[in-house]
Amino acid sequence: MTKIQKIGIIGAGIVGLSHAWSAAKRGHSVTVFERSSKAYGASIRNFGMVWPIGLPHGKLYQTGLESRELWLELQKNAGIWINPCGSLHLAHEKDEWEVLQEFASLAPTLGYKCNLLNKNDIIKKSKSTNTTNLYGALWSPTELCIDSPNAINTIPLWLEQTYNVKFFFDSTITNVKHPEIQLSTGEKVPFDQIFICTGHDFKTLFPIVYQASEIKQCKLQMIKIGPQPKEWLLGPHIAGGLTIRHYKNFQACRSQIKVKERYASKSPKFDKFGIHVMASQNQSGDVITGDSHDYDHPNDPFNNEEIDNLIIQELKKLVTLPNNEIKNRWNGIYAKHQDLIQFINNPENGVTIVNSTSGLGMTMSFGLAEAYWRGDIITKNQEG
Ligand SMILES: Cc1cc2nc3c(=O)[nH]c(=O)nc-3n(C[C@H](O)[C@H](O)[C@H](O)COP(=O)(O)OP(=O)(O)OC[C@H]3O[C@@H](n4cnc5c(N)ncnc54)[C@H](O)[C@@H]3O)c2cc1C
Repeated sequence: MTKIQKIGIIGAGIVGLSHAWSAAKRGHSVTVFERSSKAYGASIRNFGMVWPIGLPHGKLYQTGLESRELWLELQKNAGIWINPCGSLHLAHEKDEWEVLQEFASLAPTLGYKCNLLNKNDIIKKSKSTNTTNLYGALWSPTELCIDSPNAINTIPLWLEQTYNVKFFFDSTITNVKHPEIQLSTGEKVPFDQIFICTGHDFKTLFPIVYQASEIKQCKLQMIKIGPQPKEWLLGPHIAGGLTIRHYKNFQACRSQIKVKERYASKSPKFDKFGIHVMASQNQSGDVITGDSHDYDHPNDPFNNEEIDNLIIQELKKLVTLPNNEIKNRWNGIYAKHQDLIQFINNPENGVTIVNSTSGLGMTMSFGLAEAYWRGDIITKNQEG
C-alpha cells in the first residue's frame, strides 16, 4: 500500500485543484494555499471550453478525453454546471472547407470522433450560425462548456467535504525550502511533498528555474456579450477559420497551410495580434468570445480597442447574436512553452513545479494530474 503523505499545494487554480483531487483520492492528506480570497487567475478568465478536438492526436488527445470524463464526474458528484455542447468548426472560405474535409477523412485513423455537416444539419445544431458563404462544418461531440468561475469556486468546497482537503485562502507563500513552506505571516508548515501550481507567476518563487524554462507569458483579451434572450441558445461552441489555421489537430492536414497563407497575406492583423476567435455560452446565457495573444507586453493592464473590434468583426462572420451589447471586457495571462503541454521541474527533492504551458489548462489539467499520480509524467505528445 502507498505510504500516506502530507501534500502541500500552492495555488488554487485548475492545476492546483487537479493535483489536490488526484492526491486526495489516493488517500494523501492535502492542504492548498491560495494567495487571494478566491482564485482569480487564468482559471476563471477563460472561455470555459474543454476542447479535446483541438489536441494533436495520440496521447494528448486521449488525455484530453480522460479530463473530459473527470469533468463529467464532477458534474455528477460536485454539482457543477456543465453543458456537454460539442463544437462546430464553421468553414466560410473554400480553403477552410478543404481542411475540414481532409481532417474528417483522416479522423477515423487518427482516433478523433467527428464528422462533416451540411448547411441544413448545421442549422439544426446552432440556429445562430451565419449561413452567408457557409460551405459546411466539422461537428465534434466531445467538447464541454463549463462556467469557469463557478467551477473553480465550487471544486474546493467539494474537495473539502469529500476528501477533507484543507484550503487556506488569503495565504501567500513567500518561500519554499523542503520540507517547509513559509507564509507571508512568517509561519512555516512542513510537508512530505510540495507542489508549486502558481500559474504564470511561478517565477516569483523560483526565478532561476523560470529563467531557464523557455516559458513566456502571454496576455489574452476577452469579451462577454449579453445578456442574450432566455430562450436563445448558441448550442455548440463555435470556431471558424482562425481556429482552423491555429490549432494543432489541423497540423495533420496538408491543406492547412493555404488557410495560414491567406490570413497572413489578406488579413495580417489577425496574425499581428494573434487573434483567434471562438464563442461559448455560459450558464447565465452570456456569450464569451476572444481572444488575442500578446507575448511582448503580457503585463500591460490596458486592452487594445482595435483587437476587440477585430474579434467582434470575425465573430459576426461566424454567428448572429440577438443582443450584441458588450457586458464585460477583461484580459488574462497564461504561461506558454513552444513544445510542452506542461512544464514539470523538481528544483529540490520533495518540491515539484507543475505549470500548464499550452493555453489548454482547463482541457488538460485533470487528465495530466491523474497521469502524474499514476506515475506517467506527460509533457509532450506521443502518437499512438
Ligand atoms: C483568456 C484565457 C482564455 C483561456 N481559455 C481556455 C479555454 O477555454 N480552455 C482551456 O482549456 N484553457 C483555456 N485557457 C488556459 C487555462 O485557463 C490555463 O491553462 C489554466 O487556467 C492555468 O491554470 P493554473 O492553475 O496554472 O493557473 P491560475 O489559474 O493562474 O492559478 C494559479 C493560482 O496560484 C495562485 N498563486 C500564485 N502565486 C502564489 C503564491 N505565492 N502563494 C499562494 N498562491 C499563489 C494565484 O493567485 C492563482 O490563483 C485560457 C487562458 C486564458 C488566460
